[in-house]
This record gives sequence, C-alpha cells and structure tokens, in this order.
Amino acid sequence: KSWVQCGTSMKILSALKRHSYEKPTPIQAQAIPAIMSGRDLIGIAKTGSGKTIAFLLPMYRHIMDQRPLEEAEGPIAVIMTPTRELALQITKECKKFSKPLNLRVVCVYGGTGISEQIAELKRGAEIIVCTPGRMIDMLGANSGKPLKKKIYIYIFFFFVFVFRLVEVMRIMDNVRPDRQTVMFSATFPRAMEALARRILSKPIEVQV
Ligand code: AMP
Repeated sequence: KSWVQCGTSMKILSALKRHSYEKPTPIQAQAIPAIMSGRDLIGIAKTGSGKTIAFLLPMYRHIMDQRPLEEAEGPIAVIMTPTRELALQITKECKKFSKPLNLRVVCVYGGTGISEQIAELKRGAEIIVCTPGRMIDMLGANSGKPLKKKIYIYIFFFFVFVFRLVEVMRIMDNVRPDRQTVMFSATFPRAMEALARRILSKPIEVQV
C-alpha cells in the first residue's frame, strides 16, 4: 500500500516525504485505513514498527475534517502515554506534521511545573499529549478547562497495561461518549483486555 492509498492528504504527504517516510510500514498500512473509517481499534505491534505514525495520520485527518475550528473549541485529540519520556517522544514526532498543518500540540506531563502547561493550553491546542496523572491535575485545576464534553476527542494509548484503570476512567468521564478510541500496545495482556472492554466500542483488532 502507498500513503495515497491510505487516504493521506497532500500536505501530510509532503511532510512524510521530507522526513523520508517513503511508504507505510505493515502496521500503518493496516491501521490507518481502519482508524480513518471511524472505528475503534486495538493495534498490537512491536516497538519500532511505526505505531506512532499509525495513529497520528488518521488523527490529523480527523482534525482537519473538523475545520474551520471555532475559537472556543478546545483540544480535539488526546494522546495518553504512561511515561514522560514517551510523551515527549510522541510530541516530537507529532510536531513534524503539526507545524505544516498549522495545528498546536501541548505536552502535559508531571514532574515539572504545571503553570506553564496550563498557560499553553489556554493559548489553545488541537492536540494534547499527556501522562494520566498530570492530565487529572489539569482537570482538577479545571479553570484550565482542557477537556470539554462537546469536543471530539480521540484517545490514543500506548502500552496501556501500565495505566491504572481508575485514572483512565477519570479522564474518560470528561470526554464525550461518542469519541473514537484507539489503543496501541506491544502486547495485549489480560489487564489490558479489561480496560479495552471498558473504553472501546466494537474495536477492530490489528496485529502484525
Ligand atoms: P515507532 O514504532 O512509532 O516508535 O516508530 C519507530 C521509528 O520508525 C521512528 O523513528 C519513526 O520515525 C520511524 N518510522 C515510522 N514510520 C515510518 C515509515 N513509514 N518509514 C520509515 N520510518 C518510519
């Protein structure tokens, strides 16, 4: 499959070429069209298989389809990751595309001051990359109003088995119920199955 066959727009295509992503990896070829169809998805693929782009591209497409964005709208996509390192790594990958698409990404993670992150969110963002603990703090501080029920939100997970169910559910309660939810992981242990049942609706499963 080519990027075009995956439904990729011209702007994204030129960013992909610029970063020498010549063609989709197997997980990307399977997951991108499935996510673009609007279905929930569980993707199981090893580290280094290209999971990040597999959920970023359909996310951009979804956000661009919402345009023009109203000024009052908050974030549209939330990418939840278990660690600050992953959050920063995903943010870096995300910025390769968000810049040419004119989208704003805010990385929300713990272990550092909260006020700058709140200020960034208040300036406006279409995409939040977060760790759950700090995200919950943001909801609590919710003068920051990072999530509003009326907003379309995607939740993308990484290595979900290290998440605590209560934390994830707390965040999910602040997201509209008709969201699209996509989970990616290297493995799919029992603990993750339970979480998947709670937060996903009739997911497509993709494994490479
Ligand atoms: P990930 O599995 O998402 O951590 O990606 C592993 C690495 O592969 C990252 O450094 C990506 O930049 C790179 N990558 C992802 N997709 C592609 C692709 N289609 N072609 C070449 N490199 C890619």
